[in-house]
Amino acid sequence: MPDPIEYDIVIVGGGPAALAAAIYAGRSEMRTLVLERSGLGGQVALTHAIENYPGFPEGIAGPELTTRMAAQAARFGVETRIEEVTRLDVEGPIKILTTSENCYRAPAVILAMGADPRKLNVPGESELRGRGVSYCATCDGPFFRGKKLVVVGGGDTALKEALFLTHFASEVVIVHRRDTFRAEKIYQTEAAGNPKIRFEPETVVQRILGEQKVEGVELRHVKSEAVKKIDCEGVFIFVGRIPNTSFLKNVFPKQHGGQLETDRDMMTCEPGLFAIGDVRQYSYRQIAAAVGEGAMAAIAAENWISAQKAEGKLKR
Ligand code: NAP
Repeated sequence: MPDPIEYDIVIVGGGPAALAAAIYAGRSEMRTLVLERSGLGGQVALTHAIENYPGFPEGIAGPELTTRMAAQAARFGVETRIEEVTRLDVEGPIKILTTSENCYRAPAVILAMGADPRKLNVPGESELRGRGVSYCATCDGPFFRGKKLVVVGGGDTALKEALFLTHFASEVVIVHRRDTFRAEKIYQTEAAGNPKIRFEPETVVQRILGEQKVEGVELRHVKSEAVKKIDCEGVFIFVGRIPNTSFLKNVFPKQHGGQLETDRDMMTCEPGLFAIGDVRQYSYRQIAAAVGEGAMAAIAAENWISAQKAEGKLKR
């Protein structure tokens, strides 16, 4: 492993929370690095239209929003590397990040790795992934023109994406395990009024059927236990997300459900280590909120570094 590369602030992740933190940190003339495992943008880059991010009355596509944020960060001198962080160690006020290629040292680290789609863990799901099973309507919806689809989940994502999928599909069946939905009322009303959408409440998918591609699902009513099959060519699963915090087990052995607790400055119990966006417990999981958390964490990180220097714990 080469010698560690020094920065003031390293941001792990490349979604809106991370990029907002990068803009603030870079503009404050902190030597700032963004480490992202695949490409900038995070989950938002897969979102076709964002209608509730302030300043865009007509809405904005996810990739455009994050491309603009990344350009803004680059303008302030922020560096970006596509490398996956595999380990974090804390040595006094210094954090050491290991990736497959390099090692980085910084007093402040902002964790913004986001979250991955939660799986149903039913037979057929992994076998038929990419052959009709999908976790991204924007990516895969256009493949299903005129086809019948099943959407699983009852949150904002499930209903919003089900509405989007009606642009392509002949019918969208929303399968949800309860009879009430946690999605915002506006999405519930829109979905209920859409002639292409049908609901299967109090029902779970217990098997995804098909050999080479999805041919249907086996549903079970949670109260009556009745089982029935319905034909479909695609199954879109939107049942929440799991934060990407597994490489932090050595730092936070007791972390709650994978999400990280912070104080009001977004700092975790480890001084100089911040968490924002979907990795943070009690996060609102909204782009506007994530961006706000990014700004707060960057300001707090800078203040924390200054305080450490003033106390002689870090070199000036
Ligand atoms: P979510 O709100 O956590 O909803 C997950 C849904 O999946 C719930 O309906 C849940 O059922 C169901 N579910 C969970 N595990 C399941 C399982 N094993 N089998 C079957 N169903 C299961 O997740 P989300 O919809 O992805 O939303 C995440 C956050 O992003 C939320 O805060 C949401 O408000 C926000 N968001 C906002 C917008 C927007 O346009 N404003 C759009 C997308 C997301 P139960 O209800 O029974 O728990």
